[in-house]
Amino acid sequence: MPTMKAVQVTKANAPFEVVERDVPAPADGEVRIKVEACGVCHSDAFVRAGALPGLVLPRVPGHEIAGRIDAVGARVTAWKVGDRVGVGWHGGHCFQCDACRRGLFINCEKARITGATHDGGYAEYAVVPAESLARIPEGLDAVDAGPLLCAGVTTYNALRNSGARPGDTVAVQGIGGLGHLALQYAVKMGFRTVAVSSGPDKEELARQLGAHDYVDTKATPAAEGLQKLGGADVLLATAPHAAAISATINGLKRRGKLLIVAAPHEPLAVSALSLLSGRSVAGWPSGSAIDSEDTMAFSVLAGIKPRTEVFALERAEEAFARVMENRVRFRAVLKP
Ligand SMILES: [Zn+2]
Ligand SMILES: [Zn+2]
Repeated sequence: MPTMKAVQVTKANAPFEVVERDVPAPADGEVRIKVEACGVCHSDAFVRAGALPGLVLPRVPGHEIAGRIDAVGARVTAWKVGDRVGVGWHGGHCFQCDACRRGLFINCEKARITGATHDGGYAEYAVVPAESLARIPEGLDAVDAGPLLCAGVTTYNALRNSGARPGDTVAVQGIGGLGHLALQYAVKMGFRTVAVSSGPDKEELARQLGAHDYVDTKATPAAEGLQKLGGADVLLATAPHAAAISATINGLKRRGKLLIVAAPHEPLAVSALSLLSGRSVAGWPSGSAIDSEDTMAFSVLAGIKPRTEVFALERAEEAFARVMENRVRFRAVLKP
């Protein structure tokens, strides 16, 4: 039986373990991917903490998988060996629940999560359900594709469904793994794009990424800075800090929308009075495989790339630690 190198969570809240495992075989409806790259995401922390419902350890994390199909299970007809594919957080669905019957696969009652309900991409091979596959376009390499499959699709899909129209003012709070992609998408989608972050040192970076304006929340409260620019039609919150997100609400236009794709532990503080003008607060649930495919296609079309730091698979522990300490600019990617 051939074996492979994998990185697993053996015990909750313990360091990752590098292990040798049997190469898994795809069952009905599944394919095996030879992993070429896998991004490291903040959400991998839920797996490491053993904190997702139904999670069984040991588990191989990783939900930003890019590679090539190297084996196809029975009843898979749409994919073949050699296809370049990516897999994100949404790891599969039942096709039968109410949400699935409405085509809302991301909201499936039995949605599977890559690297949580089944093993993910911190390994040389990963076996995944065929419905979780997104085709990687020509001209996009695996290291760049990885982060687009979670950080990318989350921000791209939130923005394109936000209701903002070309010329509207879209503010992006936070310039990290998600924010640095969100800024690029917002600009290329034709929005007047404002970056909101703390400190004067981030302005140059924000402008390099295409932002038309910058609000430094160290110098001016976010709401005041945004109102000086006329207010935001949409504010996409990408950095998981409850207080910083709450502070942006009064920077929205009267019918503006705060759209949240980051998950702070603490609750948000929202004054009902701030909402009575017609403002709203909403979240967005990443996307399913076809949304990831659209994200990658748009990224190639518009010349958008994540900024990455590459680590060998065996260095997953170090890569993860650097991500959690916010020391990676801007997305860590593992290469087997
Ligand atoms: Zn993620
Ligand atoms: Zn379902």
